[in-house]
Amino acid sequence: MSAAEDTRSNDNIQAEIALLKRQVAACTLILNNEGILGYSGHVSARLPDPNTFVIQPIDTPRSDLKPEDLITMDLDLNILSGPKGEKPPAETVLHAEILRARPDINSVAHFHHDLTNSFTLIEEGDLRPVKNHAIRWRNGIPVHPDPSHVAHKYQGEAVAKTLGECHAMQIRAHGQIVTGESVLAVLTDSVHFVENAVAQYNAQAIGTLKPLSEADMDSFDKEFKRGRHLDKLWRYYVGNLRKAGIIPQNWELG
Ligand SMILES: [Zn+2]
Repeated sequence: MSAAEDTRSNDNIQAEIALLKRQVAACTLILNNEGILGYSGHVSARLPDPNTFVIQPIDTPRSDLKPEDLITMDLDLNILSGPKGEKPPAETVLHAEILRARPDINSVAHFHHDLTNSFTLIEEGDLRPVKNHAIRWRNGIPVHPDPSHVAHKYQGEAVAKTLGECHAMQIRAHGQIVTGESVLAVLTDSVHFVENAVAQYNAQAIGTLKPLSEADMDSFDKEFKRGRHLDKLWRYYVGNLRKAGIIPQNWELG
């Protein structure tokens, strides 16, 4: 590769990293505004070097996150760059171990949504796919039995093991983890994961639950265009928060 090509390719990588940081900040602001991710919780994104990712600092308000606040780390939790003196969240290891275990995952959200979590607090409280978009979780929504903060490597590895090949999970009496192929995917899937839990809660309040059947899911899946759907929700929520002045107009978000 010539020196000029090398500079160009480095410029492209830096542009991609900058875009991912803006997307993580925007996704966090949206999930916070939707009441899904509160005063705790975090979104991460894998960077072009697949052994590295970005995540927000531990105490930065989720309602006021900016791309330049984000910390760049490797999967062994070494800080590579970020604002001076800032520390990553205590549960960063869950992001690192899921990204390590699952090369297909490029973004992870962890949040503590109480109504969704209430399904882990009752006997026979399995969260099931009940709304059409919940076909994303047709291969299961595992529940991690240990409600502790995921603060140590062995705990992160255990969480990744519980997730297995699934796309979302609950941590009993604690919160949720939603994973996706991109930050846009994690936004849409987090919204639908909570919608599905609310729908199940409401349905069970009025009668006996009738979850989606395999035939229902096959039928919905046949016509579903995931890429288009992810773009649609991203544009909808980004547009709303731009209008509200929460996402700055000058953040180019892809
Ligand atoms: Zn947590």
